[in-house]
This record gives sequence, structure tokens and C-alpha cells, in this order.
Amino acid sequence: MDFSLNDEQKMMIDTVRRFIADELKPLEDELELNGSLPQAKALAVHNKAKELGLYGMNMPPELGGGGLSNLDRILCEEQFGHTTDYLIRRAFGNVYEPLLHCKGAQVNRWLKPAVAGMRTCAIAITEPGAGSDAAGIKTRATQQADGSWRLNGGKHFISDGEWSDFFLVSAKTGDKEISMFMVDKGLPGFTVGKDQIMMGLRGTPHLELFFDNVPLEAVTLLGEQGQGFKLAMGALNVVRLAQVGARAVGKASRVLALMVDFANQRQQFNTKIGDFQMIQQQIADSVIEVNAARWMVYQAAWMLDQGLDAREQIAMVKVHAAETLGRVVDRAVQVFGGMGFCKELPIERYYRDARIYRIFDGTSEIHRGVIAKSTLKKGAALFDINC
Ligand SMILES: Cc1cc2nc3c(=O)[nH]c(=O)nc-3n(C[C@H](O)[C@H](O)[C@H](O)COP(=O)(O)OP(=O)(O)OC[C@H]3O[C@@H](n4cnc5c(N)ncnc54)[C@H](O)[C@@H]3O)c2cc1C
Repeated sequence: MDFSLNDEQKMMIDTVRRFIADELKPLEDELELNGSLPQAKALAVHNKAKELGLYGMNMPPELGGGGLSNLDRILCEEQFGHTTDYLIRRAFGNVYEPLLHCKGAQVNRWLKPAVAGMRTCAIAITEPGAGSDAAGIKTRATQQADGSWRLNGGKHFISDGEWSDFFLVSAKTGDKEISMFMVDKGLPGFTVGKDQIMMGLRGTPHLELFFDNVPLEAVTLLGEQGQGFKLAMGALNVVRLAQVGARAVGKASRVLALMVDFANQRQQFNTKIGDFQMIQQQIADSVIEVNAARWMVYQAAWMLDQGLDAREQIAMVKVHAAETLGRVVDRAVQVFGGMGFCKELPIERYYRDARIYRIFDGTSEIHRGVIAKSTLKKGAALFDINC
């Protein structure tokens, strides 16, 4: 068993880390203060990342992507966690894996432009009445005599909806059947509602979408009728590992580094606060938990690279990495004292941004349910070696 990173991996991490430090971090305060960036600045970041080959790194090279293995992608995503959601989206893209199920004419119309950063995509599954129960949606696509569809219903909380050119939308195509459609913004009957203001993730819009008899060509159906949703949910597993698991580890690492620096500098009672055992315990617990979460993320990525089924491991990562991040940012606020709560430092922002990790992409409760059910069925295979 070899846990070391090779030279290419170290170089790749270094490149991404430097890009984030030089190009993205300087924009964070402006984004937080104004809730948005001027379009020109956002585009400059987007274009620079593309020039450096950092955009769409998760996609295969024959499509113009970076062709990274799952493990290499995870190493990058961990670094992405060092900056904010909006800037990650602009620089590195939201090129979601379900798009890889595009076929024929779909490839040039949606997949390739998405990989090239010419068209941006968002995933639209959640509805006001259907969140954790993603199969409980009301949005419906009805097939017409000529094979085209009419879409009716609505979605909410759709991340990056404002910037997006098209949406991967789940819709009922039968009583017990759900399909996925690629729905272009601007189609007649497709309206974008309000931006639902969140506790954190400043800059990223979260939109309502309304579909009123939206005409969809037959070619908009992703995968087979009734199968696209399953395909998409499967492909979203790797997104969950990358965008929640790895980013949570990266974010927790950044916060922990700030906590350690502060504990080494801040003096009270003529003593560095890092010399107080109660502060040391908060640092030690954070270091232990971040390292454990990181290795869980890497193991799940390695399993995917071996072609193994990592669904349960990814569910475990989702819970553990998200909850680790939550505990680490909470301790950071405590270690920073009043400055942890004060907007003059970014700690309170990290605290707010971290909270969603336990909710989106399946709540901790839903993933604990998956893990428990699988364990009750499969037993020791999920927690013992060689079973
Ligand atoms: C910032 C943000 C960004 C998002 N981005 C997107 C996006 O881009 N695309 C998209 O489609 N969706 C998106 N979502 C939606 C997100 O995935 C859902 O909010 C999430 O799945 C939870 O659904 P819900 O909010 O409806 O909560 P509910 O499902 O109503 O859950 C409420 C509570 O009940 C618990 N619960 C529900 N069912 C069970 C159960 N079986 N057992 C135990 N407990 C249960 C939950 O864990 C939770 O604690 C986003 C949400 C937010 C807040």
C-alpha cells in the first residue's frame, strides 16, 4: 500500500494552489462585500483558468478536458475548497458527469460546449415539495405525437442558475418513471424566478425555475426515457465525493491553518493561547479529524479508479467530511474569540459557508440511512478488512 503522491500530482496541486492564491483569494472580500463580482472580473478569471487548462479538468481529454483520474481530480478539488463556491465555478467549471451520457447530436450541442466553458450547466432536481425525496417531484414532461416533449412544473434552490445556459432537469415521464432533460434557458414558457438568498455562499445565485408548457425537442432527453434519472444519480456520486467531500477537507484545512497561526500569535495572560491545553485540544481534534476525512476521500476516489462500487464509501465521506468541516469551523470561531465572530476576519464567513455541507447533495440523515441499510444487509464488508 503506497500513500505517497507522485511528482506530477505534487506539481498539479501546486499549480492549482498557486492559481487560487494569486487569482481567486484576492477577489474573495469584494465578492463577500458586494454579493457579486463585475462581469468583466468574473470572465477574466474564467478565461485565465481556461488558458492554463484548469477548466473542466474532470472531463476526458478527447472532449477537451483534463482527463484526470478520480484520485487526481480529488486532489484538485481539495484545493478548490480553499476558496469560495462562486470563484470555483467560474475558474474550474460545473461540468457535471451526467453530461457524459450525451450521445449523437447532444455531444456538440451540450457536452463539448460545456467542457470548453462556452456554455454553463446547472443541475435542477430539487422542488419545493421534493428535496431528500428526489423521486417525489411533480415536474412532468409529456411526450407529443412527433416525439417532442412539453415540460411543466418548477424547481428551486438551483445553484449558479443565473450564470447557467442550460439545466439538467429531472421530470416525471410516467407514473413511476423519471427522466432527465437538457433544458436551454430562453425557451418559451421557461422563466427564472427569484434568487433565494442563503446564509452563506455569497455570490452564487440559487434560483427558482418555472416551466409552463416548455417545448422540448426529442434530442433534449438525456439517456433513455425513464433511465436518465438513474444515470444522473449514479454520476452524481462522484460529484458528491469531489464537490462536497474533497472541498470540505480543503476548506477545513484552510480554516485549521488560520486557527494554528492565530493560536501561535495571540497572547493572553502573557502567554500564547496555543500554550493553553484547552486550545491545544481543539487544534489536536481538528488535525485528527481532517486527516481521517482526507484519507476517506482518497480511498473512495481510489476505489472509483479501480472500477469498484464506492457508493457506501461516498455516503460515509459525505457525512464525515461535512461534519468534520462543521466542527473545525466551530472550533475556529472559538479559538479566534470575538474576532471569530467579527466580520473584520473571514472566520465567520467560513462558519456560515460550512453549514450547507451537511445539507446539500443529500443530508447527513439521508446518507446515514444509506450506510445503515447497507450495513444491515452486507454486514462486516462495510467496516472490516478482507470481508
Ligand atoms: C445552498 C443550496 C444549494 C443547492 N443547490 C442545488 C442544486 O444546484 N440543484 C438541486 O437540485 N438542488 C439543490 N439544493 C437542494 C438540496 O439538495 C436540498 O436542500 C437537500 O437535498 C435537502 O432537501 P430539502 O431542503 O427539501 O430538505 P428535506 O428533504 O425537506 O429535509 C428536511 C429534514 O428532514 C430530514 N429528512 C428527510 N427525509 C428523511 C429521512 N428519510 N430520514 C431521516 N431524515 C429525513 C432531512 O435530513 C432534513 O433534516 C441546494 C440547496 C441549498 C440550500
